[in-house]
Amino acid sequence: MVHQMMDLHIHSVYSDGNAHIEDIVRHASRIRLKIIAITDHCSKTYTYVGGRMLNPDVAMERAEVISEVNSRYNNIVVLNGIESDIDGGIVVFPRGLKKDFFDLVIGSIHKSVSAKVWYQWSLSAIRSGNIDVLGHPFSYVRENIPFEMVEEVLIELADHNVAFELNMSYGLPPEDVLLLCKEYDVPVSVGSDAHSLFNVGMVDAGFSVAKKFGLRIIRPQKRY
Ligand SMILES: [Zn+2]
Ligand SMILES: [Zn+2]
Repeated sequence: MVHQMMDLHIHSVYSDGNAHIEDIVRHASRIRLKIIAITDHCSKTYTYVGGRMLNPDVAMERAEVISEVNSRYNNIVVLNGIESDIDGGIVVFPRGLKKDFFDLVIGSIHKSVSAKVWYQWSLSAIRSGNIDVLGHPFSYVRENIPFEMVEEVLIELADHNVAFELNMSYGLPPEDVLLLCKEYDVPVSVGSDAHSLFNVGMVDAGFSVAKKFGLRIIRPQKRY
């Protein structure tokens, strides 16, 4: 099945993953993935995990490594992705770099927040035009989110063509959310959120559920 050839959320040694990009690509190619995104954290708060990527020199070095592997592997496309924190509603990028430096930007909340803050930060990130994917959408909310807030965020995702992530490490969303994604034609992105080689490509459950609910799966390309 063509869709199972993608994994759009993978961490490398440039943040808290334990595999080098070269090893990730060799492994992904071997298991016949066709498109992968290396999406290291960029964070102001978690300085060890994501702080390195705040430094534009590090982000540029990583982009060069990705570009170099792309030139050697002709059966797989490796996207220069990033998982940027949504912090205070702001999408965090390496200093001086903008969204268009990356092929794929996942925006994720990594702080425990109330439903109201989740709603405000999510809308702010989606409307900013700075993200392609809303990462593991409900995972750091410390209380039940009112259904109307979920619905409004999904509508906003559809309006801005930002994908709802089916993140395999955090589990799939409830069925009513999947039904709304279908109803509003919200695009979806599937990623393992792998932090080790073993989990790269573990995306089957996401693709099965997307197929079952008839969801529109994004298929990003390299920008350059
Ligand atoms: Zn995350
Ligand atoms: Zn992640």
